[in-house]
Amino acid sequence: MGRDSDLTREALRQQLEADRLLGIKSVPISPPPPRQPGARARVGRPVRSATAAEQAEQLGVLDETEVKGCTQCTLSDARTQTVFGQGSPSARLVFVGEAPGYEEDRQGLAFVGRAGQLLTRMIAAMGLTREQVFICNVLKCRPPGNRDPSAAEILACSPFLRRQLAIIEPEVLVALGAPAAKTLLNTSESIGKLRGRFHDYYLSGTTGEGPAIPLMPTYHPAYLLRNPAEKRKAWEDLQMVMRLLGLPIPGEMSG
Ligand code: SF4
Repeated sequence: MGRDSDLTREALRQQLEADRLLGIKSVPISPPPPRQPGARARVGRPVRSATAAEQAEQLGVLDETEVKGCTQCTLSDARTQTVFGQGSPSARLVFVGEAPGYEEDRQGLAFVGRAGQLLTRMIAAMGLTREQVFICNVLKCRPPGNRDPSAAEILACSPFLRRQLAIIEPEVLVALGAPAAKTLLNTSESIGKLRGRFHDYYLSGTTGEGPAIPLMPTYHPAYLLRNPAEKRKAWEDLQMVMRLLGLPIPGEMSG
């Protein structure tokens, strides 16, 4: 009984987070049906080639010995500090944006400005916390004035992201915004055409070579702040990710 009411409370909290994300003001009169025991959000994959401690150490070594002192492109000139990304080293789900902005450069953390706060709510609506996922960018240094990064800068920095993903071994990637999606998928398609379905991200960087991770492109939280009507589409994309991960969806009976 106690566990069932806990699950109902958690489902209700998640429903409210989803409503908040979508800007829905009404509160459901009845709570969603209780989840079946065992249908809670799973955290971490059951089978891995490295332990979470080993993954944390490998990420730490990559950051400390290669990323923090990197001068491989001119973005190193203007940065305050590099922004490696943060979260669970064994996350099942990784969010990838384009590049750090002003706040991120100042704090050394990914997605901590206004867009980052919306991302936190999107993650909460999925029934997860920022600590359970990993959040990073394609580029580890802020382009001055938040200008678009050049092709050479993306080329120089992309191997760091590939190595991060090879260490974390996530089950799913979410590309936040057109630049991240286009870079990761090596395509010029618009985000409107790319979103709404899974694509393959190849860790090798070459399409068709080696293991691939399902990647869902969706709108960047900064875009959603400017265009709140598009939040519903982003929520649809995130629900597809939740289904792939076996996470319960607010208002849907779990099997
Ligand atoms: S953006 Fe990437 S490649 Fe360029 S200096 Fe920063 S860490 Fe190095």
